[in-house]
Amino acid sequence: MSRRTTILGAGLAGLSAGHTLVKGGETVSLLEKEDYIGGLAASFKVGDYTIDLGPHRFHTRNKRVHTQVEELLATNAHWKNRLSRIYLRGKFFNYPLNAGNVVRNLPPWLLAKAFLDYLWVRAKNAVKPIPDDCFQNWVLKRFGRTLYDLFFGTYTEKAWGIPCTQVSADWASQRITLLSLWDTVKKTLFRPKNVPRTLVSKFIYPKHGGVGQIAERLGEEIRNHPGNSIQTGVRIKRIRWAGDKVTSVEYEKNGVVRDEPVELLVSTIPLTVALELFDPAPPPDVMKSKDTLRYKAIVFVFLIVDRPKVTDDHWVYLPEKHLRVHRISEFKNFSEFSAPEGKTLVAAEITCNYEDETWNMDTPALVKLATADLATAGLIQPHEVLEGFVRRERYSYPLYDLVYREHVKRCLDFMKGFTNFHSSGRQGLFQYGNMDHSLAMGLVLGEKLLRGEGVDHDKLLEEEESVDG
Ligand SMILES: Cc1cc2nc3c(=O)[nH]c(=O)nc-3n(C[C@H](O)[C@H](O)[C@H](O)COP(=O)(O)OP(=O)(O)OC[C@H]3O[C@@H](n4cnc5c(N)ncnc54)[C@H](O)[C@@H]3O)c2cc1C
Repeated sequence: MSRRTTILGAGLAGLSAGHTLVKGGETVSLLEKEDYIGGLAASFKVGDYTIDLGPHRFHTRNKRVHTQVEELLATNAHWKNRLSRIYLRGKFFNYPLNAGNVVRNLPPWLLAKAFLDYLWVRAKNAVKPIPDDCFQNWVLKRFGRTLYDLFFGTYTEKAWGIPCTQVSADWASQRITLLSLWDTVKKTLFRPKNVPRTLVSKFIYPKHGGVGQIAERLGEEIRNHPGNSIQTGVRIKRIRWAGDKVTSVEYEKNGVVRDEPVELLVSTIPLTVALELFDPAPPPDVMKSKDTLRYKAIVFVFLIVDRPKVTDDHWVYLPEKHLRVHRISEFKNFSEFSAPEGKTLVAAEITCNYEDETWNMDTPALVKLATADLATAGLIQPHEVLEGFVRRERYSYPLYDLVYREHVKRCLDFMKGFTNFHSSGRQGLFQYGNMDHSLAMGLVLGEKLLRGEGVDHDKLLEEEESVDG
């Protein structure tokens, strides 16, 4: 009998781990809370429209993951040229910033101020180095106050709902890799050889079915092997453990409770949720750390608009404070098949906290709010909105505050004490990552488990990136 691994969560990380184990001849049982698979990278069909949970472009430096996705999507894969911009003061600024475009769009006095600010901060930094101790300092040091206020600070504060002095510099270093004002100018004047990840301009997107097709294809291949199962609509009640082993997972589906004995358990559900399910409960210091970890939620408001296109962009950031919506995406620009001819669908994202006022707003109020914001920004006319609907995601972004690292470490150290349990993926590691990271994590984790090797989750992706470049 081959080993059977239980996997919690059927997002890309869980599916990728399951897929790798199944290909290696083992069997898996995936347990998913929702009635669909794909997690944050799922897609939904609503009438004639295909929607994703916000904009999802797939790109990777990892050759194995790249090949895997191309093979999974086969003829459904097509390449797109990225266009994403910042909409500010009635003008579109390319994102990542492009010096020529900034110069054309900003009034001369503001440009001069931005330049002087930049010189000032560099001089200040030369005398007394500014520490990279929070998002604000990280960006100020590299761009100066004016550009920080215009493009980075206001947007980040709006999206995260906390001051940028309280946001970890990790967020900046992961999202605005290697960029500074000087890099931005260099990039405009010369073509860099090694394009940083944030500047990658081409990406893959399925022609039909939305980004969720990657998950659907992984799920299909898992189900095609006899003995494997993916159960959706499952409520996990308990993860039982004793000594250094996890022993069983108790779950309920359609009113029937089962206690599934566990040989090996992989969890890709949020770290905090998994810890709450442990029975007996983990030590108090671990639970205290768990309680400090926070997630930003997103309310996605989808508007069907009666015109062929609103913008040419895949997505547009809206940093201005008088607008509640912080980003819009237009799926027709990802695939022409995502909406019928003559109509388009825009997803407006509003970050919030779980169960706060925004989260609890009803659909008509949210549709009204998003419509008004887009109209105020001059992007649509209110009467063009034919219909609107809403989806909510509680665990959209792990919140990188100034202390998250030490608390995540304490939680993961507890989990590392088990010999047959692994917490992985974006949610399981409380890591801001992309689809390719979750796919790569699942792939490497699966391979290590097949080979019976120890798994160091902190190094999982480092190893993979150094192998595949
Ligand atoms: C708005 C937005 C835009 C994004 N854009 C991009 C992009 O352009 N490019 C890109 O590469 N990445 C993007 N990402 C990131 C990408 O979506 C994620 O990194 C990736 O999908 C994470 O996969 P995962 O399996 O690790 O986690 P998830 O997708 O979160 O999967 C976890 C799974 O666990 C399930 N689960 C949770 N709790 C339980 C429970 N108690 N019991 C059972 N199951 C449970 C969830 O339902 C889910 O299916 C974006 C993310 C967001 C939020």
